[in-house]
Amino acid sequence: MDFLNNKRFAANRSLASADAERLVSASSMGEDAAFELKLRPNRLGEFIGQSKAKEQLAIALEAARSRGEALDHVLLFGPPGLGKTTLATIIANELGVGFQQTSGPALQIQGDLTAILTNLRERQVLFLDEIHRLQPVLEEKLYTALEDYKLDIIIGQGPAARTHVMEIRPFTFVAATTRPGLLSSPLRSRFGILLRLEFYTDDELRYIVERSAEVMGVTIDHDGAAEIAMRSRGTPRIANRLLRRVRDFAQVRAAGIIDLATAQRALQMLEVDAHGFDELDRRLLRTIIYKYDGGPVGLNTLAAALAEEEDALEEVYEPFLMQIGFLDRTPRGRVATRRAYEHFGIPMPSKAGLYDRPALFD
Ligand code: ADP
Repeated sequence: MDFLNNKRFAANRSLASADAERLVSASSMGEDAAFELKLRPNRLGEFIGQSKAKEQLAIALEAARSRGEALDHVLLFGPPGLGKTTLATIIANELGVGFQQTSGPALQIQGDLTAILTNLRERQVLFLDEIHRLQPVLEEKLYTALEDYKLDIIIGQGPAARTHVMEIRPFTFVAATTRPGLLSSPLRSRFGILLRLEFYTDDELRYIVERSAEVMGVTIDHDGAAEIAMRSRGTPRIANRLLRRVRDFAQVRAAGIIDLATAQRALQMLEVDAHGFDELDRRLLRTIIYKYDGGPVGLNTLAAALAEEEDALEEVYEPFLMQIGFLDRTPRGRVATRRAYEHFGIPMPSKAGLYDRPALFD
């Protein structure tokens, strides 16, 4: 448990600093909030992509509805910006029940959690974002609430303290995390439905961009939407953000219409390249290639070389680079792949050179 706590603490500390201010950051930025609310699909039928998770969820929703019971607790996991919060709100909409949202870091004291749980309405959805950052004492308090809809409340102090068991109304707990590995196994076992969200394909993202443009009242053609989609790192949040920036550019420079040329010019000006890489992605790959001969290089060494936190690399940068096949995680460390060499136009050394050298940096 101590190990988990330390990891959680590190996760809390590092992400905010590393990810702030990146245009292609998957984390939500202040300016995103209002737009996201507007662009968020409300029903499962409007939610694009994630066919596996959607199918699993549709069946569970149907079964819960026909039994007239609360839906089993749901754990949503996957990189930021892929639609976890959106799906949580969709679950409540589809069930026709209330929705309440909080997050691991927002819950600081037991009283907060007790108040939320005792005020729940019948069968409503309680959404807890960033559950990996929930304090362990609160996590333990959740166990009985999730399992038996009961809550132990201690009244009084010292020898006079009494434990009261309070009944709470049946509810559906929906939790989201970018780091499922940091959850303790007792917590994980409380969820009946586990949904993993994956990066979106370019086609799915193009569809999302077109839908968002429609909601925003912006004219965009097929190729313009495809260009934004391609540079969005498989992430709807980034696609929507880039769309907003490109719209601004189009308004000022292209009579408000987004076509391929306008999208390309805008994205070039914003320094978002063909893969949605920004300076940090490029620096990460170049460091592995130039400084460590393509790897393998241990995560801690790499983090030190880049002056970034390990957690930020693992959670923010690496998942997408791995997804598009630019980076590999091997037991001996991170390796830049052939595609990464090709992207930078660097000849790839022979395999022997890459893997047979002593593990100096692991
Ligand atoms: P997360 O909670 O995983 O960080 P969100 O649910 O907040 O991500 O999604 C971020 C934004 O991306 C939302 O505003 C939403 O409009 C958009 N979005 C996410 N998934 C989809 C989807 N499948 N279809 C359409 N828009 C989506």
